[in-house]
Amino acid sequence: MQKTGFNKEAQNEVSFIGVNRHRIGVDGEGVTTLAAFHGCPLHCRYCLNPSCLDTNARVHKFTPESLYQQLLIDDLYFVATGGGVCFGGGEPLLRPEFIRQFHALCAGRWKITLETSLNVPLKSLQMVTPLVNDFIIDIKDANDEIYMAYTGKSNAQVWENLAWLAANYDREHVILRVPLIPEFNTEEDRERSVERLSKIGFGNFDRFTYRVEETGIRKLGDRD
Ligand code: SF4
Repeated sequence: MQKTGFNKEAQNEVSFIGVNRHRIGVDGEGVTTLAAFHGCPLHCRYCLNPSCLDTNARVHKFTPESLYQQLLIDDLYFVATGGGVCFGGGEPLLRPEFIRQFHALCAGRWKITLETSLNVPLKSLQMVTPLVNDFIIDIKDANDEIYMAYTGKSNAQVWENLAWLAANYDREHVILRVPLIPEFNTEEDRERSVERLSKIGFGNFDRFTYRVEETGIRKLGDRD
């Protein structure tokens, strides 16, 4: 007889917008593969991966097992460089059960990094935190009015989750992205975000500017 939960969930395929191999120095230590989930609770005005919001986007379906099998090809790179898998998206914390099952397959050998907005229920964060080696958190702006204008949603849940994370996780392994977002915030707003985040104990900030190109394509700009 099958056990409940794990086996049943393992049958479930989840949609990804892409899997990018051989990334170095962008998603944490060593060689990493970025596995980008489809789906996100936010609607950022300059979304960097609009296909994760597009219901007609071309997606790849994986179970935790089939993703693990696909990524095994880089096992040697991961182990030799202290790298592993970065789950991004979209929003990886919409899929905590997938991450839990994936982690069970590669436990201890591959590092797991999460690139997340943290705008998800606290229980999803609590479920995966013990499995995660590094967090990269996309703060956008600490000010709720700016955040709401830019993403379409309040950041109240983000603050609840940050407070929990500050108290329950090694803050040295958390990078907070604080972008300058043309037409939405200013240098002063950004420094206010940094100050507020510093007060709850975080210290690793990634400052950069979104680059709005003439073609309308928005990209992460150079680090400030
Ligand atoms: S959080 Fe990321 S994926 Fe989601 S809408 Fe914003 S930029 Fe796009």
